[in-house]
Amino acid sequence: MKFRAAGLSDTGLAREHNEDCFGIDGASRLFVVADGMGGHSFGEVASRISIDSIVDFMKSDSADGSVDGQELQPQSRRLKTAIERAQDDVLGAIEQDESLRGMGTTVVGLLLDGETGTLAHVGDSRLYRLRGEEFEQMTEDHTWVNEQVMAGYLTAEQARTHPLRNVVTRALGGEANVQVEVTEVPVQEGDIFLLCSDGLTGMLRDSEIQDLLENGEDLDQTCQSLVDAANDRGGGDNITVVLVSVERDGA
Ligand code: CA
Repeated sequence: MKFRAAGLSDTGLAREHNEDCFGIDGASRLFVVADGMGGHSFGEVASRISIDSIVDFMKSDSADGSVDGQELQPQSRRLKTAIERAQDDVLGAIEQDESLRGMGTTVVGLLLDGETGTLAHVGDSRLYRLRGEEFEQMTEDHTWVNEQVMAGYLTAEQARTHPLRNVVTRALGGEANVQVEVTEVPVQEGDIFLLCSDGLTGMLRDSEIQDLLENGEDLDQTCQSLVDAANDRGGGDNITVVLVSVERDGA
């Protein structure tokens, strides 16, 4: 299968710096979004280190690492290892420069390999899939509010506006042994994947995002429409979107 991809990152209207970052590597069929956090714009450093580290690892011939009991395809193991290496690189940078302590980043990645897609994430950056008329969030946020939703203490609607909605429970840069969540999904011609930071999903509802994807003319223009729509709502955070469309060979 072939694919097309486009990405766009925007500072939004409320923040001085853009601490989000994304990577698209066509040769590796790898797509990644990272949302950095930390004072004095150090989130920028954390998200950039992570994206570079993941893209470089997937380009290299490095072997994959261990997988603690989960049965995964070799490519998926490599993506998981790549994210664990990114964690080491963020922690290494903090060790080198104490002033960076406290920086961290989320990461969400998609790796396409034939008819399998590997999704891997840490934190609250998300991956969605549009298949026909069905628009589905494929990642569960690693956030305190989502844990409350899954336990039945909060509704999804309450979580959207909860004062603690930005508290992530997993991030690169935090605990040494970060748990990367990895899932494999079948990929079909016609699927459109969206990777995004919470600057998009905090401003727009899923149904609004779906409308923009369905009515987009091409991927670049759709990325711009998504960013514009989030900014129209106030652009309270950095906004990053990566779109990947799976197409027939020869298309
Ligand atoms: Ca954010």
